[in-house]
Amino acid sequence: MDAVMQAELKRLFETKLNRAMRLYLETCTHCGVCVEACHVWQSMPESKYTAVGRAEIVRKVFLKYFSLEGRIAPWAGETIELDDVAVERFYDAAYSCTGCRRCMVYCPFGIDTQQIMSIAKLLLVGADKEPKLLSMLADMSIAKGEDVESSSAGFAEAIANLEPQVEALYPTPAGRKTIPLGVQKADVMFVGLSGAHSIVPAAAILNAAGINWTLSSFEAVNFGAFMGDPKRTKAIAQRIVAEAERLQAKRVAIVECGTAYRVMKYQTGEHSFETVAFVELIAKYLKGGMIRLRRNVDKRLTYHDPCQVARNGGIYEAPRFVISKLAQDFVELTPNREYNWCCGGGGGLIAMGELEFRMKSSRVKMEQVKATGAGAICTICENCHTQLTDLNAHYDMGLDVHSLTMLAAHALVKPGEKA
Ligand code: SF4
Ligand code: SF4
Repeated sequence: MDAVMQAELKRLFETKLNRAMRLYLETCTHCGVCVEACHVWQSMPESKYTAVGRAEIVRKVFLKYFSLEGRIAPWAGETIELDDVAVERFYDAAYSCTGCRRCMVYCPFGIDTQQIMSIAKLLLVGADKEPKLLSMLADMSIAKGEDVESSSAGFAEAIANLEPQVEALYPTPAGRKTIPLGVQKADVMFVGLSGAHSIVPAAAILNAAGINWTLSSFEAVNFGAFMGDPKRTKAIAQRIVAEAERLQAKRVAIVECGTAYRVMKYQTGEHSFETVAFVELIAKYLKGGMIRLRRNVDKRLTYHDPCQVARNGGIYEAPRFVISKLAQDFVELTPNREYNWCCGGGGGLIAMGELEFRMKSSRVKMEQVKATGAGAICTICENCHTQLTDLNAHYDMGLDVHSLTMLAAHALVKPGEKA
């Protein structure tokens, strides 16, 4: 690594050094409490897979360049030179961490290893060593935001083709559009993912509730957040913020995508609209008597709290309320809510593929699900759904893996039907 690159990486490092980050980097007592909290270490017990082990690589670079003792007596402590070897170690640390923040819940000082890993990810971007698939996907999302006009006709046609599937789940009320686009002052702007599986069930539920809604032109997923690039994260989220503000939407409802929800809710500042996870709307419409569901899950069902929606987003009860209307026999995972084990698919690993690592590093998740005796599992995050589906196949678990929104849409009681 040449001096120019090293100076640039030091500059990037410094941009992350706010008060909270300095506390995370300066406070660790190496007590090791976080070690057992990490699903990767639980499944693959090697020191490089501990939370504290990952953080130490960043911490030692911090000590060398940004701490008093590192500057005046660099020989005194164990420090790491910011060079090509360090960058390789950043990659191994950051992309074996799903950013689940379970270690933070157990750390007596609340040290956020995900935040420390965000330094490693940013420096990888600076060194042009980030996973190229993630940066390509992020750039494609940004390009779509810059040229939405040219794709609008094709998008409208593709959406219109989904309408029969929505109608099959719930007939659109008279005088309404089945999947509305570009509606001003809608009560809800729904932000989906690419494909029928995310748009169709949400549309049916919104139509059944009689909501004045509109579909966003953009996908919720934020590849910039997976690669820890603040500029790309902001650019991708900003497309949705600008659209919601232009349409004067009252609420932005994010599809089952934990990272997209967390970025929109907590990392885009103040807006004229409220951000909600779609499951919160399903629970609200149920409580208000605006939709009715019939019990449609015969097998024993369990629920996986996605890290970015639950532990890091605070949504625990809404999905459980919806499940209470669908399942005869519900069993909690142990532990659950903020202590739930990560599925092992976050932090960009699903988008990157990484099947072998994901399966090996989530053995503890597989064992947790198996212990419930459930025949079915549901969740509210596309990443978690994909990871659970892969785990189910890899470990031959014999589960039905469901999206909760999809379950609810298929359980809608239609006009004239009995629950
Ligand atoms: S954030 Fe999750 S994956 Fe990363 S070190 Fe902590 S517990 Fe492990
Ligand atoms: S629990 Fe906290 S203080 Fe203890 S080793 Fe882990 S990060 Fe450091």
